[in-house]
Amino acid sequence: MLYWTELYYHEWQVENSIKMTGGFLLGHLFPVTKIVRLERSLNTLGLRNSIKSFLRNTKKRLKLVLYRGKKRFCPVCGGHSRKFLSYGINPRVDAQCPYCGALERHRLLALFLKLREYLFEKTPQKMLHIAPEQCLEPYFRDIFRDGYISADLHNPQAMIKMDITDIQYSKHFFDAIYCSHVLEHVDDDRLALSELYRVLKNDGWAIINVPITSERTYEDPTIVDPQERKEKFGQGDHVRRYGPDFHQRIKEPGFIVEMIQTEDFVDDEIRNKVGLSLSNDTIFFCRK
Ligand SMILES: [Zn+2]
Repeated sequence: MLYWTELYYHEWQVENSIKMTGGFLLGHLFPVTKIVRLERSLNTLGLRNSIKSFLRNTKKRLKLVLYRGKKRFCPVCGGHSRKFLSYGINPRVDAQCPYCGALERHRLLALFLKLREYLFEKTPQKMLHIAPEQCLEPYFRDIFRDGYISADLHNPQAMIKMDITDIQYSKHFFDAIYCSHVLEHVDDDRLALSELYRVLKNDGWAIINVPITSERTYEDPTIVDPQERKEKFGQGDHVRRYGPDFHQRIKEPGFIVEMIQTEDFVDDEIRNKVGLSLSNDTIFFCRK
């Protein structure tokens, strides 16, 4: 079980950044709308690159002022805030960290990795982050440093372009893999799983999460029309719905799987503070 006192050490990160940068003053002098307008006009003057980072930091500091409070805590960025933001097509209240953008599943992951921080004792380690979430990239970079590699087939922000069913790394290359909410988009998810198994070291670990939206896994490769996929699989670019039996599919290449849910390791105090419900994602923690 994870305890609140173990998490509280994060507080200094955000609190100190306000003091060091004078963000409070800047936040009152420059409303967000003026900053956005100023950024647009700077584009036409060709000054974007030199001033963009200043404006980005100013916006960040503004948020620290706007959401200043102690009611919520984000274990991904270490920020305290008075509330989380609503998020989603059918908006979920209390869903998104106003500072780093972390959603419930990202915050649950950070709590889980805090609980298992012994996984990071051995250094250096190589980590593969597939379809990198913007909020998690700095989080993983901080842990894995030069061993961090992000990969995606379509996202140009990722470090390498990679097809998950044809991973261009040798056997036993990575100590850690994080692949979340990806396989529901992949036609041959079994091939992807066998590739993840191949490139993971024998003493490595992988977290391979998918949205569980069905009683049992349901797929039909003849459904290719985005509208029909949306109706059947919940999104136009999804190729199946997964059920809790997903863990059987992970086991096929040889993974040993542990399924962890919020209530397994998070007490009510942390759950409320971190803004999690009992219906958050299952973590599929895989070893060889
Ligand atoms: Zn955050």
